[in-house]
Amino acid sequence: MLPPETELWNRVEQTAREVFGTYGFGEIRPPIFEPTELFARAVGGETDIVSKEMYSFEDHGFIELEQWRAGLITRSVGAGLPSEFEKYEKSVLAYLDILSARMSAGEVPKTPENEKALVAVRNCLKEMNQAGASFLRTQTGAGEFAFENLLKGVKQALLSFRFGDVLSLRPEATAGICRAYIEHNMQQWPAPVKLYCFGPMFRRERPQKGRYRQFYQIDAEVLGGSDAPGIDAEVIEMVMTFFAKLELPGVLLEINSIGHSGAGTHGKAVCRRAYVEALRAALEKVKDKLGADSQRRIETNPLRVLDSKLESEQGIIAGLPKIGDYLCEECKTHYAEVKRQLDLRGVKYVENWRLVRGLDYYMRTTFEITARGLGSQNAVCGGGRYDGLVELLGGPPTKGIGFAIGEDRLILSLQEARKEVASGEWRLAIETKNPPSKTEGGAPGGGIGRDVYIAWMGEKAQVAAIAAARRLREAGLRVELPPVAQKFGKALGQADKLGARFALILGEDEVASGQWTVKTLADGAQEKVGEADVVEWLQKKKV
Ligand code: ATP
Ligand code: MG
Repeated sequence: MLPPETELWNRVEQTAREVFGTYGFGEIRPPIFEPTELFARAVGGETDIVSKEMYSFEDHGFIELEQWRAGLITRSVGAGLPSEFEKYEKSVLAYLDILSARMSAGEVPKTPENEKALVAVRNCLKEMNQAGASFLRTQTGAGEFAFENLLKGVKQALLSFRFGDVLSLRPEATAGICRAYIEHNMQQWPAPVKLYCFGPMFRRERPQKGRYRQFYQIDAEVLGGSDAPGIDAEVIEMVMTFFAKLELPGVLLEINSIGHSGAGTHGKAVCRRAYVEALRAALEKVKDKLGADSQRRIETNPLRVLDSKLESEQGIIAGLPKIGDYLCEECKTHYAEVKRQLDLRGVKYVENWRLVRGLDYYMRTTFEITARGLGSQNAVCGGGRYDGLVELLGGPPTKGIGFAIGEDRLILSLQEARKEVASGEWRLAIETKNPPSKTEGGAPGGGIGRDVYIAWMGEKAQVAAIAAARRLREAGLRVELPPVAQKFGKALGQADKLGARFALILGEDEVASGQWTVKTLADGAQEKVGEADVVEWLQKKKV
């Protein structure tokens, strides 16, 4: 990436910082590499990402030990050659002594797996001694075979020894963020914790336009708190606002609900499990008309069949059962409310029942955003709810929802749009006319901090609150809009905890009269401010 293109990258990132900041998000910078195990668990061992796309390595500097081992595993030893075996055994035992010493010194991992590997090597060697002797007496093929097998056992055990931790370049950001949430006890922070990060991700894929092995994501996650549909809608509103600010061309938001994966009562599958059963049965019936990939997925992950881009499968897929017909009451209600909340926010979407995430802990809301000018790699953002993930990684039960934007594709699409403007006068749409005020300062008990907390009660007040949040954010203020109505006392407590400086109180009286109540939390002073003047009032007071 070279100038002047990097200018565009910086502006995109700056715009994300500004927009996300106004929604109360703070930046997190997770490491670029983490234990492979973390990604295997969080992303799932059966996914393409983990099974074949990760860049993994063993983190150690013992080149000689590795070369020595390579020598030992490539050596051949004949069953009928006692002196050859003796030499080999000696060499292996010397090697084991060094490994043991390194382990005791804490230079290589003293793990149960490593201890087991050493024991396995010694055991195989002992048996090889006997097998070799018996082969010399009998000279049967079976004896030779036994000897060879034991030799293989030695080599495999040697190979399984780890000189260091196995690490991977991160293929995505959610796993690391959830790990950090647990490690830094962020469940103690005022909920929900809203985090974003930028940076490179790595996947060993076939490179093509919009698909690279090192690519960049802009990632945002909301962790903890409730799973109120208003949160889902707000996260989606935020990314759509960001794209609108950039004037990203041809933006299309698709949404779906994939239900939840819990078991039903009395052994009867419900919701997603019931759907997967029905889907699998339907797929079995048309198996011979499907491609090899989809055939395999009937067993491993039938939901992924819906993802298929294969032309010949499209007609078949159109006739498959739809998840919407299988959602349980709670999931159905949640989904309906997400859609209503999107409508309240004026966010346009289309429903796509084929939009799925193939992993168990992804649940309910899923969404994908596409843009123009990208050919077949046209997804610029994917996201969804993942309430089970933090717990799966060893943390407390925690609600979670987030998204990842493909920054390379976002930039490509913006550049395409630039070409579309014939005059060549195209200016970056994202040059901000009113640079927002600085979004700095954390919450008292840790966490991210807010300028304004909007306390609202009642249906009409929510509509006003959503509109107010938009105006205040436009003006660069960091706003927390609770997803559900709260009693004002509770709301003010929450505002305090978040470190908000002002609370905007919207009850029925305020909405009817257009005179809003603004409370300065530091001194408790309360004032009525006209609806039209609120932004200016807050901006003046804030500095
Ligand atoms: P795709 O279906 O395009 O492979 P994905 O489902 O693998 O996407 P996610 O893991 O959801 O993608 O990542 C979110 C976004 O990151 C995608 O929508 C896309 O914009 C971007 N992205 C994913 N992989 C790559 C890549 N190899 N190169 C560039 N961008 C990528
Ligand atoms: Mg992919």
